[in-house]
Amino acid sequence: MDARTGLLRPPEAPSPEAGATLTIDLGAIRRNYRRLKEMAAPAETAAVIKADAYGCGIEAVAPALQAEGCRTFFVALVSEGVRARAALGDGPRIFVLNGYPPACAETYRKSDLLPVLGSIEEIAAWDAEAGTPAAFHVDTGMNRLGLHPSDLARDDLAASIANRPPVLLMTHMACADEPRHPLNRRQIAAFDEIRARLPEIPASLANSAAIINGWTWNTDLARPGIALFGGRAVSGIENPVEPVVRLDARIIQTRRVRIGETVGYGATWTAQRDSLIAFVSMGYADGYHRSATGGDGRPAGFAALDGRHLPLVGRVSMDLVALDATGLADDEIVRGTTVEMIGPTVSVDDVADAAGTIGYEILTGLGQRYARVVIDSEAG
Ligand SMILES: *Cc1c(COP(=O)(O)O)cnc(C)c1O
Repeated sequence: MDARTGLLRPPEAPSPEAGATLTIDLGAIRRNYRRLKEMAAPAETAAVIKADAYGCGIEAVAPALQAEGCRTFFVALVSEGVRARAALGDGPRIFVLNGYPPACAETYRKSDLLPVLGSIEEIAAWDAEAGTPAAFHVDTGMNRLGLHPSDLARDDLAASIANRPPVLLMTHMACADEPRHPLNRRQIAAFDEIRARLPEIPASLANSAAIINGWTWNTDLARPGIALFGGRAVSGIENPVEPVVRLDARIIQTRRVRIGETVGYGATWTAQRDSLIAFVSMGYADGYHRSATGGDGRPAGFAALDGRHLPLVGRVSMDLVALDATGLADDEIVRGTTVEMIGPTVSVDDVADAAGTIGYEILTGLGQRYARVVIDSEAG
């Protein structure tokens, strides 16, 4: 991890009323942006800030990236585009990935948003209702959103493109997190073929994983999301970006449990020795998954105190997580002690692995009950 990170310690003044405090380091986001920009060059590096900037807060994150020189942003929804425009002011381009919903032309105009259009019907609706520039999404094998490559050859669409070329031609990779997956090569080849037919239109292919894999060489714009926010984009290699969030929870009660006794709902955990259990004031209602205890082949979830692991025990409840603190000093594990649930020792991906999901879901699910502290480890 970067030595300059502002996340090595809990925040100075966590809110006494909240059960847990979420710290977001804009400086870490800025360093991650610069790192990705270096990797993607000479392509321009945009920022994907959908889902409230991956849970980190669009109003804080968007201007921080703008200050790093980011000039192009992607959101998923029109409503997110409106928020992004309010945070960014005039100037940067804001693309809406989920396209053009019916009867939204006025909002697009007011907030100066660009839709990413992915079907003939959608292009027709946009042309009829707005008629201003847009991006086209081509599906090269993910089979989700996007025009089929053969659509581009249709006479009506070719005429429309010749008349008013899209400002961006983009595709999205289905398996970039697994660099050796055979679909990657097929998608890149299909996109190259389309680009060869429309060489003058700027093109965009790379999400975070594709940037890290070095697949930006002949495209104009890269679209990282998760890596800006410190999540693991590619499996099986060291994560080249640094963590951005830290989550600290307060112990509200401790309990000595005798060997053979159980803890929590369903009595799913049985003490194998006399144990010291600590309860922290957060749970699945905060987006900390009920399944984060691990099991069924998943690694055990854990929290940390000064770098030492505290395994989760029993089921995560709505508002409580139980931690095994056996072996730690009695005066360390007391009511009021703050433990790290996510941070320098426990990565977002550690939590995701224990819960059987991906870091994206942990970040975008970060709860609304946390006290939020936004810091900038690069600010003077
Ligand atoms: C979410 C998204 C991205 C960013 O993906 P990451 O894996 O988070 O980098 C890029 N392009 C599209 C079309 C997306 O939906």
